[in-house]
Amino acid sequence: MNVRSLRFKLGWTNALLITVVFLAIGFIRYEVLSYRAHLSFDSDLLEDARDFATRLHFPESGAVTISTEGLPPSEVLALERIRPYFAVTDLKGTVLRPELHSAYIQDMLDAGALSEVLRSHSGFSRAEGVDGRQIRFYSLPFAAGASAEQVILHVGQSTEPIEAVIRESLLIYLYSVPLIIFVSGAIGWLLAGRALKPFEDVAQVAGLITSKNLNMKVVTPHKEIEVQRLVDAFNSMVGRLNRSFEQLRQFNADAAHELRTPLAILQGETEIALNSMDLPEDTRSLLASNLEELDRLTRVVNEILTLSEAEAGTRNISKVPLDLKPLLEDLVEHLNLLALDMDVRIHLPQLSAAVIEGDELWIRRAIINLLDNAIRYSKPGSNIWVAATVDGERVRLSIRDQGIGISAADIPFIFDRLYRADPARSRNSGGSGLGLSLVKWVVEAHEGTVHVSSRPDEGSEFTVEIPLARAHSSISGLLQG
Ligand code: ADP
Repeated sequence: MNVRSLRFKLGWTNALLITVVFLAIGFIRYEVLSYRAHLSFDSDLLEDARDFATRLHFPESGAVTISTEGLPPSEVLALERIRPYFAVTDLKGTVLRPELHSAYIQDMLDAGALSEVLRSHSGFSRAEGVDGRQIRFYSLPFAAGASAEQVILHVGQSTEPIEAVIRESLLIYLYSVPLIIFVSGAIGWLLAGRALKPFEDVAQVAGLITSKNLNMKVVTPHKEIEVQRLVDAFNSMVGRLNRSFEQLRQFNADAAHELRTPLAILQGETEIALNSMDLPEDTRSLLASNLEELDRLTRVVNEILTLSEAEAGTRNISKVPLDLKPLLEDLVEHLNLLALDMDVRIHLPQLSAAVIEGDELWIRRAIINLLDNAIRYSKPGSNIWVAATVDGERVRLSIRDQGIGISAADIPFIFDRLYRADPARSRNSGGSGLGLSLVKWVVEAHEGTVHVSSRPDEGSEFTVEIPLARAHSSISGLLQG
């Protein structure tokens, strides 16, 4: 799970929004529930108080009675519920008939908890019981006895049961918050994943397009307008790039082609001039150096032309079963002559067959470039080892030298065109800076890979891996003896 991904952000935003909405609804629900519960409580209390007042026989002297005659059992029960929580006072708040009080009310009176209630002539008030319970009172004036003296009846009820219900519903709500966050987050994550899937698919297909297959188009089965718009925009951008690339390639090929003839003429004429007998020595050495430069230039131009043609597909690769064993033996034999000139020895161990699907000319060219580099960048008296091993479905060809090596900073660029790690040295050795680009192109055209490991002053090892031809891919084992 990547926290910087759009999917994560969408999932998280979804969870946050749903939780906020859930909490807001919860808060409103709680407030409404609490308001209605208290309202209903008050109206019940008021009704109970009035009933109680009508049933309370309160003579100026003599016994106070509560008549329940003719009442249905439910109302008798309601009256019984009130009995522990009532008090009667005169208009000044002096308690009348204390013998009527329950122990609970007496305790509250003793503790002074009822002073506010007793002062009230009518309406609701609140007091805290000695056990901490909240009691809501309703004070109701009524006429007592025959003289119809005004007294106040204070009737109470504990709010504990409704508070408990409200508290419980709030707790249930709060406990469900983490669950809601989790569920809404998971749903958001899944939905965002589904919504973004088409874009991921498009990105995957788009990732397969490189400078070598710019003529490809992204096609997606997802028909959503947004996805199609992205795909269309991408395809038209790739189309424009393809056209620019084509023009560049064409220009390279045309330029190289145009340069070949005048270069050949210059080369020929310089050779003729060099052959004439009566040349002063300094002019001769000048012409010889010109000829060397012309040689190099011709090589560069030829390689540019080859690369452009290869990339444009005008020179096709025709793959046939190709055994690397005789090819390597032949190349090493030929290049040994060049190596001996530089006092370098090439070692090629006994090989066994390694057949790939390849174009002999191109493969030959790529291996020559690698061997040629190994020789040119070797130190006199050093060795070069060539090896080819079959590893499962692939053949691994390695060329290791004890030459000048390549610095870590240069390694990422040496396969780029015209890149030379040490231009002065490369130029002296006749390098064009195009050899490795061609190697890379050839190897990749054979579905292979090429990489290098190197240390300055210790040497380099270039490793090429190419798939074996299908019928031969089961042959495994060491090719070197
Ligand atoms: P060049 O024709 O200049 O050799 P390449 O494309 O063949 O061009 O190689 C690019 C650069 O990589 C070279 O200029 C050289 O600096 C470096 N290089 C290639 N092969 C080797 C090697 N075997 N040892 C040391 N440096 C190498």
